[in-house]
Amino acid sequence: MKVLKFGGTSVGSPERMEQLLPIIKSQQSDKHLVVLSAVSGTTNDLFAIAQSYLKEEKDKARNDIKILYSKYKTFIKQLFKTEEGLRTAEEVIDHHFNLLDELGNDLFTSIEERIVLAQGELLSTTLFHVYLKEKGIPSVLLPALDFMRMDEENEPNIEYIQKQIGIKLSEYPSDNLFITQGYICRNTFGEIDNLRRGGSDYTASLLGAVLGAEEIQIWTDIDGFHNNDPRYVQNTKPIAKLSFDEAAELAYFGAKILHPQSVFPAKRFNVSVRLLDTMELSAPGTLISQGTESDDQIVAIAAKDGITAIRIQSSRMLLAYGFLRRVFEVFERYKTPIDMITTSEVAVSLTIDQTTYLEEIIQELNYFGSVEVDHDQAIVCIVGDFRSNKHGHATIVSEAVKHIPVRMISYGGSEHNISLLVPASYKIEAMRSLHNRLF
Ligand code: ASP
Ligand code: MG
Repeated sequence: MKVLKFGGTSVGSPERMEQLLPIIKSQQSDKHLVVLSAVSGTTNDLFAIAQSYLKEEKDKARNDIKILYSKYKTFIKQLFKTEEGLRTAEEVIDHHFNLLDELGNDLFTSIEERIVLAQGELLSTTLFHVYLKEKGIPSVLLPALDFMRMDEENEPNIEYIQKQIGIKLSEYPSDNLFITQGYICRNTFGEIDNLRRGGSDYTASLLGAVLGAEEIQIWTDIDGFHNNDPRYVQNTKPIAKLSFDEAAELAYFGAKILHPQSVFPAKRFNVSVRLLDTMELSAPGTLISQGTESDDQIVAIAAKDGITAIRIQSSRMLLAYGFLRRVFEVFERYKTPIDMITTSEVAVSLTIDQTTYLEEIIQELNYFGSVEVDHDQAIVCIVGDFRSNKHGHATIVSEAVKHIPVRMISYGGSEHNISLLVPASYKIEAMRSLHNRLF
């Protein structure tokens, strides 16, 4: 069994859907499970519709539903070549859009919001299933809501998922091609829920993991993880091989390529993940697996901006225990993840990328000492394997950025990452300068 996940742009137009056929046909002799995202843009549109309903702006919601409906109408007219295919597809979209319309008739809460958000993947998979049928390719549509389940901590219920998908698949012993929805799931109460934005990768990884798949293929429109960001740096190259740990570090930064959480199920069940390019079928992409360390010690440079740095300085920290715990508890209370940390004897600096509760957090931190905040920072991170050779990496890195003001440096947190915090206006220069020095 292989799991193949196609993202929103890969199903984003009738032409792109058509281009998936050769990929799927080439693997037809083996069993494989195809996980699809919603057509690109749809989840954003559904999100806007749900927000309008929540604000009781029903006219706006219904108008947006109409616009989205007409997009789908055009989409299926182009995609389907037979009358029967088109008629079935019309029934499919009518069903989902009627539901979207009707959801506005009653009380609209976060439960209904998540039902709205689920329609994108339900639409794309059902349409693709009907499309394959038109093309004479037999497939089985498996409803993700029957097996994708979260537990009371809102973490995937691995045992449940493993058991239920196993039962589902065993009902079709002679079929080879299965299709299911990415992103959507049920929570511990059985309500429709989702794995958060970009979560289709996570679905693919979870399913590939519990099925002990031969491989999880994530098909996107870039030929794998690059050793630097091609939008800002010239002569970047796709990385052929990454370990799970390196991929986990990179995924946080290149979040658009691979959902960061999706590395963990694959790692736990030791199923390799391959990033592949729907636009360039012969490109080898990036293989993420256990023990496939890259041959180079420094593998990639990645960056993320929109980072806020906070420094808390307090003489009470000196020789005290429990100080950091109390600081961290403030962030915990406001559900704000901390990314980077550096400490000295009398101060601690840390970074966050969610600033919804920044004011409240600062107010509480003021209790511990003086608090300084730097906005518009960027984390530039160097990912590699620093286990065998601990000499010199930090020197090379700091030499490459000697003309750039560095606010924080973090090294040793893992053996796969060196992170620098610089003002966002220096991000690109830091990436380029490191690229020239390291590659
Ligand atoms: N459709 C969802 C989103 O746009 C999930 C995904 O594409 O992975 O976030
Ligand atoms: Mg994605």
